[in-house]
Amino acid sequence: MIRNVYCVGRNYRLHAQELKNEIPIKPMIFCKPTHAVTWANGSSILIPGHLGSVHYETELILSIGKQYTKGMDVNEIVDRVAVGLDLTLRDVQSELKEKGHPWLLAKGFVNSAVLSEFIAFQGLQKCMATPFSLMKNGVRVQFGDIRQMIFDLQTIIEYIAENFGLGAGDIIYTGTPEGVGELQDGDVLELIYGEENLGTCVISFEQNARE
Ligand code: ZN
Repeated sequence: MIRNVYCVGRNYRLHAQELKNEIPIKPMIFCKPTHAVTWANGSSILIPGHLGSVHYETELILSIGKQYTKGMDVNEIVDRVAVGLDLTLRDVQSELKEKGHPWLLAKGFVNSAVLSEFIAFQGLQKCMATPFSLMKNGVRVQFGDIRQMIFDLQTIIEYIAENFGLGAGDIIYTGTPEGVGELQDGDVLELIYGEENLGTCVISFEQNARE
């Protein structure tokens, strides 16, 4: 059962730059409702098709295995990892940013938190050496590894735990590398960890459903 869905914004320098955002000086955390969670298990994922562009952001996802206590390190608290998509209504987000409003409308819609299956976390060293990527219609469109992060996993875990609490069942979207882009109706997406496909889904645009 997934509890809190935490996400890190602007955690890769080149991604912050591609959206013309400043590099943050401390982690930038936001949340998605649990209703946003959906699984890349081969079937279609319904997302809004009438609210401007929807971008994929491919991210490494941490699953938290136990209650955080001060001094705990990544290898103790993370039990599993997945590859996920932080789907974003980019035009809506730009408007919200301009107004200084929270990002929830752009980041928290139903099915905006796509997850592959989780696999056992094999330790920080192994994780650093394992790239994750997104294949869209057979073409690799995003590729990254956690060594490129501005704030490393340990920093993110401590920051979230100290400010919001962190315990078993929580998951963390750890930020996207550069190369985010727009989705089209019918896109086939494959979430890859190392060489392994951990999940596939097909994007389906929902027309007019939430006007
Ligand atoms: Zn993201």
